[in-house]
Amino acid sequence: MAAKKTVAQPAATSGSPVPAAPIAAQPDVLAVLPGEEPWTTEEVEEARAELFSEVERLKAELISSEAAVAGLMRDSGDSTGDEADTGSKNITREYELALAANTRETLTQADHALQRLDEGTYGLCEVCGNPIGKARMQAFPRATLCLDDKQRQERR
Ligand SMILES: [Zn+2]
Repeated sequence: MAAKKTVAQPAATSGSPVPAAPIAAQPDVLAVLPGEEPWTTEEVEEARAELFSEVERLKAELISSEAAVAGLMRDSGDSTGDEADTGSKNITREYELALAANTRETLTQADHALQRLDEGTYGLCEVCGNPIGKARMQAFPRATLCLDDKQRQERR
């Protein structure tokens, strides 16, 4: 019998390993201050979980806050009550609106922090680019400024 044609199998190429899939957040690339221990995987996951649950909580808060505002708007629309009542309803509405704006702002910050965690820029000051410090990030997971720049901003 004719020998089967053997298709030349390319020898398993050594030396060009398949590049590993990129890891979303490599803990060792997150910045720390001199003297601080590098971020561990557990600490990064902890920060991510905390931010994630905050995002979920804030979203729920925003929904109920917006529902409250909508309810107050509706109430004030058909209100024929006395002026004192209307006045206090307006104050409540202002308060609810301020609350919702605040929640929305915090939600944006938490989302932003999660994004920075994925990009590996988490823990870097957005003004000077220096490390914010792990201890500070763990105390304020949404922090985007080093202490100096934060204080400078607050003085403005
Ligand atoms: Zn800074």
